[in-house]
Amino acid sequence: MISVVIPCYNEEEVLPQLFARLGAAAETWGEEYEILLVDDGSRDATWQLILEQHARDERWRGISFSRNFGQQVAVSAGIQYARGCAVILMDADLQDPPEQIESLIAAWKKGYEVVYAVRATRKENIAKRAAFRTFYQMLHSLAEIDIPLDSGLFSLMDRRVVNVLKAMPERNRFVPGLRSWAGFRQIGIEFDRGARAAGEVKNTLSRLTNLALDGMISFSTLPLRMATYLGFAVAFAAFLGAAFTLVKRIFVDWFAKMGFPFVQGFSSLFIGMLFLGGVQLICLGILGEYLGRIYEEVKGRPLWTIRETAGLEMDVPK
Ligand code: UDP
Ligand code: MG
Repeated sequence: MISVVIPCYNEEEVLPQLFARLGAAAETWGEEYEILLVDDGSRDATWQLILEQHARDERWRGISFSRNFGQQVAVSAGIQYARGCAVILMDADLQDPPEQIESLIAAWKKGYEVVYAVRATRKENIAKRAAFRTFYQMLHSLAEIDIPLDSGLFSLMDRRVVNVLKAMPERNRFVPGLRSWAGFRQIGIEFDRGARAAGEVKNTLSRLTNLALDGMISFSTLPLRMATYLGFAVAFAAFLGAAFTLVKRIFVDWFAKMGFPFVQGFSSLFIGMLFLGGVQLICLGILGEYLGRIYEEVKGRPLWTIRETAGLEMDVPK
């Protein structure tokens, strides 16, 4: 069986199109399938539509969160409860074309355990495209594991990979990162990412920024290392400065003759102080980012809370 996991947050406008297009595409796979829609605390008719679809077709199942937990958490919940030998992740807004799933399945049948879609083109505005490019490139150079460029959620994972992901307890879940961390035989397939079929974008800029930070910090300790290097560099500069001042003090007359009269340097002190203060704050900030994440993990709260389900055995072991 094949499972499709779809996070939905206030998606009432696209859901009817999704039901039609994905349903039609699924019939061509020639496989048993289930479609798991995770309602991420929507405030519109999303859950109602999911219930109706479940009543029409048992293979469409649903989980409803008690509040909004974010896309990555919704996907994680879907992965937790999916039963298929292969699990496909995709967005609800049809930016990931359902017709493309066939080629993901084909690659999986050839023996690849992870098949991820790589965006050949995007239909988003220039600023967003540039931001995505910067993010993926930074992530690529920072992260200790090789996270493929320009691959998002849209992917297929074999049951073995799914089990690895399910065993990961972390709370800052950047699913594309976890997916590449898992390893196995992975392959990217190019596709054209379309525009959203209907409705507004749900991932706001601040959400995406947070996701970018999560992605970089959860997969790299390089920023911490950079803070250390920065500290060394600044300390070294300060040492040189001190040595120079000392020499200048001893050979006052010579320096005065060379055009460097000894003056009570107030502004240089001030600038140095500001600079050092800035460096210290940056380093504290970097430490804080990691500390905050440790705190999140240590609290050990459940990742999500479920309010209601449709067609799901809730005694699935967690
Ligand atoms: N989404 C979600 N919870 C959120 C925000 C978004 O489940 O808090 C879902 C949304 O319904 C969609 C997918 O995540 O299926 C991608 O969101 P969107 O298209 O708004 O953002 P994009 O990734 O295209 O910028
Ligand atoms: Mg979208």
